[in-house]
Formats: sequence, C-alpha cells, structure tokens
Amino acid sequence: MAERLQKAIAQAGIASRRKAEKMISAGQVKVNGQTVTELGTKVDDKDTIEVDGVPIERESLHTYLLYKPRGVISTTSDDKGRKTVTDFFEELPYRLYPIGRLDYDTSGLLLMTNDGELANKLMHPRHEVPKVYTAKIKGILKPEEIYALKHGVRIDGRKTAPAKVNIVKTDRKKNTQIVQLTIHEGHYHQVKKMFQAVGHLVDKLSREKYAFLTLNSLTSGQYRELTHQEVAQLK
Ligand code: URA
Repeated sequence: MAERLQKAIAQAGIASRRKAEKMISAGQVKVNGQTVTELGTKVDDKDTIEVDGVPIERESLHTYLLYKPRGVISTTSDDKGRKTVTDFFEELPYRLYPIGRLDYDTSGLLLMTNDGELANKLMHPRHEVPKVYTAKIKGILKPEEIYALKHGVRIDGRKTAPAKVNIVKTDRKKNTQIVQLTIHEGHYHQVKKMFQAVGHLVDKLSREKYAFLTLNSLTSGQYRELTHQEVAQLK
C-alpha cells in the first residue's frame, strides 16, 4: 500500500511526521538509493528507505493489549534473565515493544506495538491519555489526603496534575484500603509516589484501563490484537 514518505518514517519510530518532513527537506532521506526532497513522495512496501544512510525497517503494523502479570519486566530484554513482556509474543514475527512501562510488581493493561508513530504519540507528555489504576494501600486515606491526591501532590519537585480518586473498599480491621486512581500523566512510579506523598505505601497495584481500553475478559498473561478502529481512535 502506497503511503507518504514522512508517514513511513514516522511509523518506523525514527521521528514524528513533522520532524520526518524536515529531514526529507534537508536531504537526509533516500528512496531506493536516490535522495528525495519532495514531501508528497509516495512509497510502498517494496521501496527501500534510508535516513542518514541507515536503512529503516518496515514491517506491517500491529498493536496488542497485554494483561501483564506481576513479576514480569516491561522491557524487551533483561540482563538479570527475568521474564519480559516480549516473551509473551515469541510466536509472533513482529518486534513489539511496550508503550510506556508498568513496574515489575504491577499487573494490568499494557500496550505492545511495532508502530513507532503510535508509541511516540501516546508517550508524548502532551498526549497523555487517562489511565485507571487500582491500588491496595496500607492505612486509610483521610479526607485531606484524598483532596491532596485529587488536586496535586509534590513528587520529584513538581506538582501532579488533577486526578480522580475513588474509594473502592475500606477494611478498618486490616487497616487497608482499595483505591482507584485516574491519572493523565505517566512518570516513573507515579502512582506509588503519589500515595507515598500522602503517607501511604502501595501493597498491590494494577492498571485497569488505558484511554478507552479495558482488560475485559482477558486473564493474566493473555493478549489480544487491537482492531484498526481501536488503533485509529488512539491516534
Ligand atoms: N505507577 C506506578 O507507581 N507503577 C506503575 O507500574 C505504574 C504507575
């Protein structure tokens, strides 16, 4: 299928479309060995594209929704030999990687893709989609702590964006609480740090929802491919 050169470069994860256009105009891109500076240029699967002399990999684009179990690392390889999220997709011929990260001890919804454009878009701070987490915390949130979580707490020297807080269950005997948190950001250990900022440790964490996507009937370790409509909605 013919597509615009800048789109093919973006999908390979090299750069955003806008940046790819700049690279094309600057003469950094070759198609079948010829430098191309025309932005409307169409390419198909058979064309070879080089950016700064390096051929780009082109494969059909696939995005999967994985129910990540606890005890799995969200990278493509691990020097300590731990199971990684790519191990679930061994039988597939695509080089998938995670869109963002879930901690080793966090379970739940993780998107895996080889669509560089989708990954770049979803991981861009300006495009952060709502994510719903369920946390089992130590202790019980006080009203002022709930207020702080909703309106912003200080972590790593900055204030978190407004969040939704929903108390799912309170166990006064065990002194624990199950809390659903909806955030639009995705900083390192964000949910754990938000609870820590108001004095509570997270015992268990899972991600239930990413944008409009939910785990639905998937069980831990299972995955399904997103439909074209779902991918288009995310873009
Ligand atoms: N926030 C965390 O603290 N951990 C995760 O895995 C995801 C969000």
